[in-house]
Amino acid sequence: MSKVILTGDRPTGQLHVGHYVGSLRERVKLQNSGDFDRIFIMIADAQALTDNADNPEKVRRNIIEVALDYLACGLDPAKSVMFVQSAVPELCELSFYYMNLVTVSRLQRNPTVKAEIQMRNFEASIPVGFLTYPISQAADITAFRATTVPVGEDQLPMLEQTREIVRRFNAVYGDTLVEPDILLANNAACLRLPGIDGKAKMSKSLGNCIYLAEDADSVRQKVMNMFTDPGHLRVQDPGKLEGNTVFTYLDAFCRTEHFDRHLPEYPDLDALKAHYQRGGLGDVKVKKFLNAILQEELEPIRARRLECRKDVAAVRDMLEQGSRTAREVAAGTLADVRRAMKINYFDDASWLRECEAGA
Ligand code: ATP
Ligand code: MG
Repeated sequence: MSKVILTGDRPTGQLHVGHYVGSLRERVKLQNSGDFDRIFIMIADAQALTDNADNPEKVRRNIIEVALDYLACGLDPAKSVMFVQSAVPELCELSFYYMNLVTVSRLQRNPTVKAEIQMRNFEASIPVGFLTYPISQAADITAFRATTVPVGEDQLPMLEQTREIVRRFNAVYGDTLVEPDILLANNAACLRLPGIDGKAKMSKSLGNCIYLAEDADSVRQKVMNMFTDPGHLRVQDPGKLEGNTVFTYLDAFCRTEHFDRHLPEYPDLDALKAHYQRGGLGDVKVKKFLNAILQEELEPIRARRLECRKDVAAVRDMLEQGSRTAREVAAGTLADVRRAMKINYFDDASWLRECEAGA
């Protein structure tokens, strides 16, 4: 069986460093590993509309922004098919059939959707499309016969839902769909990077982000204002690491070589953490170190993004071509699905024979 990746992002804003450590950085590595036969990266505009129905302008505007973030991070159209979800209408039809295999109570139990409903104050009036977006995600994943889905931890319930749909579909209609595996970051801090407020996950919808495209000054300001340990008032006080956003970010971004370049008096992150816990290490010093690391990582991304921005028409063409390719693949899966469900009446000679026989 060929190895296929499907993953994507909602065009609800520019991409942030949470996306980067949770999925984007890994995608680029996987893309360049040559281990995969095909890679599909979807800009999920239709999904974004499920909670932005009254703001299509926002979604429309951010499609190019997300594509620019992709290219800036190193996704390469020669190796990865980047496409726009709504340009592949086959995905809607697949969702429509999968809906019959899922109960409303199953959707209501989805912990990520539950949390998102609360966050958006949808409790009293949940848009049907929003409640059912895990089904449409199953369509996205299965349409490309994805075997591997590299995403953040919040996507675990979606993958579980997809696997259930695949198993149910294959049991009812015969072996047709591929059951995908989730690929999570192997570092706990990257699974769900908190926002700069330290409270929830960094999320475009919460405005607690450091964006990949953000200028150096603004990144520095955000790092310097970051939440640490409220009990660490004086430099000599012992500090806590739990819930300390600056250290969580260091867990996500710091590599040993960063110490040689930016903080040579410590051999590694464990030594820095031990000093902080003992007392005698101030927040400002740790924040300056984090800022240096972030700037080093983000600078080439910002530079490439500016370069790609000079030719937005080329980005548009890349998405159009990618969407065409994606559509061909999804149409193949849809044909298999229709055949398995025996609803391909007009290219199925046995249907006419059954009708004639009155069966
Ligand atoms: P929205 O608020 O519109 O839902 P978002 O910031 O949650 O936006 P998505 O487009 O929903 O971003 O997520 C895209 C991908 O990035 C998913 O794989 C998701 O798991 C991952 N991701 C998003 N936020 C984080 C985070 N803070 N840490 C790790 N991974 C994340
Ligand atoms: Mg999200």
